[in-house]
Amino acid sequence: MKIKIQRFCKHREPENAVMVDYELPDGDITLLNALTFIKSKIDPTLTFSSGCKSEVCGSCSVRVNGKEKLACGYKVQDRDIVEPLRYAEILKDLVVDHNKAQETLKRVIGWQSGVSQKEDMSIEQEKRVELQSDCILCASCFSSCPVLEVDGAFLGPFAMTRNYRYVSDARCEDEKEKIDAVQEKGVWDCTLCGECTLACPQGIDPKNDIMMLRSKSVQHGYVDPTFVSGGDDMFGGGFNPSF
Ligand code: SF4
Ligand code: SF4
Repeated sequence: MKIKIQRFCKHREPENAVMVDYELPDGDITLLNALTFIKSKIDPTLTFSSGCKSEVCGSCSVRVNGKEKLACGYKVQDRDIVEPLRYAEILKDLVVDHNKAQETLKRVIGWQSGVSQKEDMSIEQEKRVELQSDCILCASCFSSCPVLEVDGAFLGPFAMTRNYRYVSDARCEDEKEKIDAVQEKGVWDCTLCGECTLACPQGIDPKNDIMMLRSKSVQHGYVDPTFVSGGDDMFGGGFNPSF
């Protein structure tokens, strides 16, 4: 079987990216094994990321035929087209710089703050944040999001899932600050298309988390800006009413 891989070697400029065909032996193999085969038998310059090889670390996330996949979990098919994740600088071939995506965690205060670490959660309280805690930061959802194509400043899905994880934590003492942090280029700018939910290899549902954050935002006095502007502000920033 044959697959195409986007290579990006010369001067590291996007316009120098080329699609290269590789012939693989027929068989039931993962994309990661196929990439390893190419590197060891055909072209040692092919560059890609991998870590745990068991769908846990998220480092081998790429796009296959326009959809995000973990290479270690995806069974390669004849004529597959393999590309790096979107909205990240390509370092080489399939390796991208995740810094821009991960910077969004700082913007949403995506960590435990303002709580006593000594306090325990009950099992029920832990269950409430269990799914969101499984995020492996693979950035698949970020790459799948169509809003980032038109607005690079949008927070993107996993940052808001992380924010919701901590807002929902029974020990959270800074809920208002965390909700404030997802107004600008955040919850109201999402189109609720659900692409992020389809892309997530962990079964996390960022779209639903964003809807829950909208509901929390209303509880904190925020208003959907599309109601205020009559729908003209679909991609605008969040609206903070004055009282
Ligand atoms: S649901 Fe929202 S965050 Fe998720 S991909 Fe669509 S626009 Fe992006
Ligand atoms: S929410 Fe899912 S797709 Fe997004 S970074 Fe986390 S694990 Fe990856």
